[in-house]
Amino acid sequence: MSDPYTDIQLIDDKGLRLDGRKLDELRPITIEAGVLGRADGSCYLQWGDNKVIVGVYGPREVHPRHMQNPLRGIVRARYNMAPFSVGERKRPGPDRRSTEISKLISEALENVVLTDRFPRTTVDVFIEVVEASAGTRCAGLTAASVALADAGIPMRDLIPSVASGKIDGKLVLDLGKAEDNFGEADVPFAMVPRTGEVVLLQMDGHLTQEEFDTILEMNRKAAMKVYEIQKAALVKRYSSYTQEGEASEEPEEKPKAKKTKGKEAEYHEPDVKGAPPAVHDVDPDEVVKPKTPDEEPVPEAVDDDDANSTEGGDV
Ligand code: ADP
Repeated sequence: MSDPYTDIQLIDDKGLRLDGRKLDELRPITIEAGVLGRADGSCYLQWGDNKVIVGVYGPREVHPRHMQNPLRGIVRARYNMAPFSVGERKRPGPDRRSTEISKLISEALENVVLTDRFPRTTVDVFIEVVEASAGTRCAGLTAASVALADAGIPMRDLIPSVASGKIDGKLVLDLGKAEDNFGEADVPFAMVPRTGEVVLLQMDGHLTQEEFDTILEMNRKAAMKVYEIQKAALVKRYSSYTQEGEASEEPEEKPKAKKTKGKEAEYHEPDVKGAPPAVHDVDPDEVVKPKTPDEEPVPEAVDDDDANSTEGGDV
């Protein structure tokens, strides 16, 4: 059966999709935490043909200063798709789409970051999509929450994200590139597993109420699978540390984290039925002191953002 809007057949006669997946199958996902030496936290994620790198910097002083909030910190995500990330070269720099995605990722992350612990500061999250093949906002958000945890930022939970939709009249999980372009509907979704809160929900296309409910349920189930992969990446990153934060005798990789990080990123078994525990063990009264410019000079990029803020690149 072919798509009603195009001649492209997205599901074959055996019920398989163009890349051979079943209707309810995710693309392969690999996540690695702690890939950048100079970032406070980082993550590399491959999701099908998507490749995303995230660097987290902060908490640090807010520039421009008028964005400072005396009561809480802010989370600024900047989503950027590299010009070479798609088949036909994309015009470099911010555009309406990247501004929208940056905003919704920032808002989703602010739901889980305990911003009252670092008033007047910002945590900057740079999401660089180096290869794009549909679902990059979900891939970016999934990687961003792992990078935040890697940076030791106090959080309620990680955020797994996934987009499902409708192609050839059937509901399918995790849309691929052709499915995204030629399908009938696309529903990007993200949630906080410990509470079930939905922190990102968009819809492009048309669905009945019943179809929409089914897609939500598919997304929820798939997000829990993504959550397991996120946690496994953090466990792998810190499993070479002992309780004291020292590298064990046979580390898998060169330890780069500060001594305290091994403790902060402590892994807890998820409790899918009830409320899973926090990702970090944090002192509830602790307020994180921001790094001053003397301790950590603000990189040029922040000033640039400041200067270009009217162009929509600064979020
Ligand atoms: P998402 O990547 O979150 O699914 P979209 O639905 O807007 O977001 O985009 C779907 C896919 O279309 C992207 O992953 C990318 O492969 C491609 N795409 C988006 N914007 C551009 C662009 N400006 N030039 C070329 N391809 C693009």
